Amino acid sequence: MEDKEKRDDDYTYEKICYVCRRPESKAGTMITMPGNMCLCHDCMQKAFDSVTNGSMDWSKIQNMPYMNLNLSDLSKMNIPGMEIPEKQKVKKRNSDKKPEMAMKDVMPPHEIKARLDEYVIGQEKAKKAISVAVYNHYKRMYLDYKKTDKEDKKETEEVKIEKSNILMLGPTGSGKTYLVKTLAMLLDVPLAIADATSLTEAGYIGDDIESVITKLLAAAGNDVEKAEHGIVFIDEIDKIAKKKNTNTRDVSGEAVQQELLKLLEGAKVEVPVGSNQKNALTPMETINTDHILFICGGAFPDLEQIIKERLTKKSSMGFSAELKDKYDQDPHLLSHVTNEDLRSFGMIPEFLGRLPVTVTLEKLTKELLVKILSEPKNAILKQYIKLLELDEVKLTFEDQALEWMAEEAMKRDTGARALRAILEEFMLDIMYEIPKDPNIGSVVITRQYLEKKGGPLIQMRA
Ligand code: ADP
Repeated sequence: MEDKEKRDDDYTYEKICYVCRRPESKAGTMITMPGNMCLCHDCMQKAFDSVTNGSMDWSKIQNMPYMNLNLSDLSKMNIPGMEIPEKQKVKKRNSDKKPEMAMKDVMPPHEIKARLDEYVIGQEKAKKAISVAVYNHYKRMYLDYKKTDKEDKKETEEVKIEKSNILMLGPTGSGKTYLVKTLAMLLDVPLAIADATSLTEAGYIGDDIESVITKLLAAAGNDVEKAEHGIVFIDEIDKIAKKKNTNTRDVSGEAVQQELLKLLEGAKVEVPVGSNQKNALTPMETINTDHILFICGGAFPDLEQIIKERLTKKSSMGFSAELKDKYDQDPHLLSHVTNEDLRSFGMIPEFLGRLPVTVTLEKLTKELLVKILSEPKNAILKQYIKLLELDEVKLTFEDQALEWMAEEAMKRDTGARALRAILEEFMLDIMYEIPKDPNIGSVVITRQYLEKKGGPLIQMRA
């Protein structure tokens, strides 16, 4: 088309049919009308046909007073209730050519794990399982890109590698989100975090399933190719378990699991760019989710009870019920989880089938919480020490003080999440008072101070 506007070399807008919402890449060349409104040939033909049949309802035209204005004019008019989406620049896929990828560029599992170790404390099994799953994910991608187009089309006898999407179970504050965030940072890929509770079946109030891909595209700076290699983390996945004993339609539970299937498996989905809503004004983009790594996480309360019941039922047939006690106190109970347990919890088998890697995170112990305070690369204590360094004050913490903080966090039962809140409570005073006196050279936070039985140890400069 001659009037196609030339924009930055890589970034182009795709025209969208005003009626059927298909983009130009799907519906073919568009007919552009005043006000940047486009129509595809099919819809134009349908419009002509209905005129010929005399079924066109011209009365509707009066209800579209802004029809002939373009978006920039509309946005200047400040019409109440009318939302004008901002123009989004989208970086298109580089034609149909597959990206180049070399196996040597892929981080091997031991390296991924070693890098994760710098940030995430404990959760050894989970880190190992994730490192292997991610490595396999990249191997699968490599094999896909290596295939020629011909091989792609014909069904080869070759072993087809399944997608290694991950299901992550673990109590609140055990580091599920943190682990995924760290992973995305290390791999340098875009990450979208969505909450399963906000998702509903298409057409109902709530976010459509595709909204998670819209988020990923935004995280990738609207770069389609980058988004197609990203990670999607869907949190609170246990909240979309099948509802038991309901007579109403389960639009946020089982239906959401059903709708997620195609995304998890790998499909081409059309998503609105820069908005959660599909409407005539938002441009659409096609994203292939085949190489997107999906990680679903949840705390799964009551799952332990299901596991315990299964284990004791099995054991009490042959042995004594002593085992019951053993399972009651087992801190690693969650790691015995099977698909059968998850099904009893309310996850549908097809959904579980698309998350072949199950990873369990353990409840953090006091020892681990102490380590989390000071050991990770960006540990909270290190951050405070750095802040006070700028005042030329040396900040240290007694070991006993760290233990006190971990004990307090254990009481709150929100895992490592409580640590920051506890620390902030007393660090506020320190951060406020210390800069007042330029003679202060060092501060030691003692357990006595935290227990409100004394003050911190303060030393003046020599
Ligand atoms: P959840 O399991 O509920 O998703 P988060 O990942 O949000 O928990 O954890 C909350 C915070 O606690 C993180 O931002 C991180 O700073 C800290 N944290 C949790 N677990 C760990 C861990 N194993 N190692 C280091 N920090 C952790």
